[in-house]
Amino acid sequence: MTHGAHSLDAHEVKRRLGVDPATGLAPHHVLERRARHGANVLPRVRPRRLSAMIVEQFANIIVVLLAVAAAISWFTGDRAQGAAIVVVLILNAVVGFITEWQSGRALDALRKQTRMTVSVRRDGRIVTVPAEELTVGDIVLLSAGDRVPADLRVLEAAGLQSQEAALTGESHSVTKTVEPVSIEAPLADRTSMLYLGTIITAGRGVGVVVATGGETELGRIGRLVMEIDEEPTRLQQKLQQLGRRLVYIVLIIAAIVTITGWLRGDPLWEMVEVGISLAVAAVPEALPAVTTFILAFGVLRMARQHAIVRRLSAVETLGSTTVICSDKTGTLTLNQMTVIDANTEPDGPIVAALCNEATGRIGDPTEVALLEWAERMGVDTERVRLDHPRVAEFPFDPRTKRMTTVHRDGEHYLWALKGAPSVVIAASSLSEADRERFRGLNEAMADRGLRVLALAEKRAPTPENDEPFTFLGLVGLADPPRPGVREAIRTTRLAGIRVIMLTGDQLHTARAIGRELGLEEKNVFARVSPEEKYRIVESLQKDGDVVAVTGDGVNDAPALKKADVGVAMGMRGTEVAKEASDIVLADDNFATIVKAIEGGRTIYANIIRFVHMMFSHNLNEVLTIFVALLIGWPLPLLPLQILWLNLVTDVFPAFALALEPGSPEAMRQPPRDPNRPIFSVTLLTTIGWQGAMLATISLSAYGWALSAYGPGAHARTIALLALVGVQVGHTFNCRSRIRSAFDRLFSNPYVWISTAMVIALQALAVTFQPLARILGLVAVGSAGATAFAVAVFAPIIVVEIQKAIARRSLTTPHARRQDAPRPPAAEE
Ligand code: ADP
Ligand code: MG
Repeated sequence: MTHGAHSLDAHEVKRRLGVDPATGLAPHHVLERRARHGANVLPRVRPRRLSAMIVEQFANIIVVLLAVAAAISWFTGDRAQGAAIVVVLILNAVVGFITEWQSGRALDALRKQTRMTVSVRRDGRIVTVPAEELTVGDIVLLSAGDRVPADLRVLEAAGLQSQEAALTGESHSVTKTVEPVSIEAPLADRTSMLYLGTIITAGRGVGVVVATGGETELGRIGRLVMEIDEEPTRLQQKLQQLGRRLVYIVLIIAAIVTITGWLRGDPLWEMVEVGISLAVAAVPEALPAVTTFILAFGVLRMARQHAIVRRLSAVETLGSTTVICSDKTGTLTLNQMTVIDANTEPDGPIVAALCNEATGRIGDPTEVALLEWAERMGVDTERVRLDHPRVAEFPFDPRTKRMTTVHRDGEHYLWALKGAPSVVIAASSLSEADRERFRGLNEAMADRGLRVLALAEKRAPTPENDEPFTFLGLVGLADPPRPGVREAIRTTRLAGIRVIMLTGDQLHTARAIGRELGLEEKNVFARVSPEEKYRIVESLQKDGDVVAVTGDGVNDAPALKKADVGVAMGMRGTEVAKEASDIVLADDNFATIVKAIEGGRTIYANIIRFVHMMFSHNLNEVLTIFVALLIGWPLPLLPLQILWLNLVTDVFPAFALALEPGSPEAMRQPPRDPNRPIFSVTLLTTIGWQGAMLATISLSAYGWALSAYGPGAHARTIALLALVGVQVGHTFNCRSRIRSAFDRLFSNPYVWISTAMVIALQALAVTFQPLARILGLVAVGSAGATAFAVAVFAPIIVVEIQKAIARRSLTTPHARRQDAPRPPAAEE
């Protein structure tokens, strides 16, 4: 029915679709049509298959190793151990699968929050609805920066242009009008149509939906528009790389140990088992699953604070951000405008009402404020608009900083102009003295932090006219700073982040607002066009800065893309800006960016906490086995016991550390250098000595057990208890590398839950007979409990002493200047 809508007269289209553009569809029509045409969504690309996710859990080298171990156990007669290894393998896979699935669900939830909305006229009112609820016949209102939400026939157009590269490959903007085109016109020439997936780059328009979802041109090509990018972050990539490398190194070492032992005369099977034990101990199985979990969970936590992450890798970049370039209006201020000062000729309020897109309280806050002012000045704005029908308009553009409309005024035409004072003064016929006077007046208003707009008009016999305007005067709007922004800016100073205000507004207004917010003058950039914004970002980046940039308009997209972290406004922002961004602020609030940076830093810190913990645990295990062999002791742990150890002491504590709340230190350090390696010298040294320290404690326990009970299951049970013990204790050490473990001991309940779980499981392993038999553990009574308790506290005591010494050297007076970020030596 609606095919060929591009060639039909607009009235004919309305008639065939059975809709009156002045009122839009009635609710029951919407329901009826949605039932017929379905939701306005494109057929989705197939989500990742469940089976694929399960298969992946098994497809890594460690699993192959364990399978070999299981086979060896089986064939050398230890069938119970062989079967048990398989069970552990499956358990490991289940944990990995659940983690990944949960992370995926977190991201799905986020995806829902970034859904696009559109303005439609329904039942005589303008409402905002999710794009997927649009249906054929809906009257859609569009303006610059909107993404076209369905295929539309244009009904009204004012300077309307769209960019259709997604559909036609043509990157230049096309002007759209109401006039029908030839039925044969190809897609690219159908200027009376707007297509799903294209972008409005300028102007304003109204269109009627002719096709939705899979019935649209884009749907027929089958391309997907918007998706959250889940590319692994740089950190994830580095960790994956590291994990792989580690596997090879470990395999080589294990092979050398096996062969040396065998040449020395030990039985081959036993040595293969030792080799496998070492490999299992050293390989960080949980690494990918836990980092994904930390990221997904952190991103969810950020979403709850109104920062919606669209690109996972941005999280990491946030933590390194050194400069935030922020808009003024709406981000630093409330965007709640009120005219509090005006100085105009009697026609001023009339022009303000005519040259205005707002209706009632709906529209751009600047224009709503002007409309309210006109009402206050006694103008019946509805009457004035009816008496002066609009015949042409030049919509507001942040580059020209002005807007003009042309109206019928009896036999004549009335031109109404409003815009930035400098622009309007230049367009008006004024004496040099008057120009100076108004400039002075403008400056005085701007110095009070007011947003100043100028008004002008002219009357002419034809709608085309080049004459200068008659200046009507100035209007000053107050826009109070957002509560909380001043404090947020203070936080950024402590965190070593520079905040720059970029605004299209004039310098005096910007400076006055900057002063109120505690921004230095050198950080206030006024009269900035979107192109200049792009260049400012570029030059900051050349100086080595990591730049976060906010934006809302269609022209901001290049700067948002160029930025290291593009931040779009969720409420005020256009679809195009949101799509170009990495993060969307649901509340448009500057303070939320600062929270997001804190979130980014916390996520990174938690990954490092986990890496610190897991690598010191693994080093502990490897050293314990290796040193025992070197000094000629029997193998302290069997492969299955190591698997058990890793399952119990890595999984639960890892999740606990992932849920660690942000520490106050997070925002008292300078931003992290993005080029600094994950394994900084300090981290490596810490892991090194702490792993050795844990191994010393574990080996002491084993040595004592060997002398007390002789080689065998009893001594091995004590060794396992000691290893679990030191790792439980060390988890508390890993919560902070500088703060005492007793500082804010209860701020993360998950650490306690995980500790309780580990202890309960370990108690079960030694007391529950079937499990004990499989794991090769025996009852060790109070000696075991004592060994375990000592093992828990010993590493805490050692590390507490070390931290106390390190802290003392940090708090020397000159390293602790007030208000200055701490030196990087204090890295968390
Ligand atoms: P910002 O949002 O950073 O304050 P904009 O680029 O939106 O800056 O606006 C720049 C200038 O354009 C404003 O200072 C004002 O003088 C003028 N302006 C803003 N909105 C309108 C509008 N709707 N009509 C006419 N002029 C406007
Ligand atoms: Mg603006």
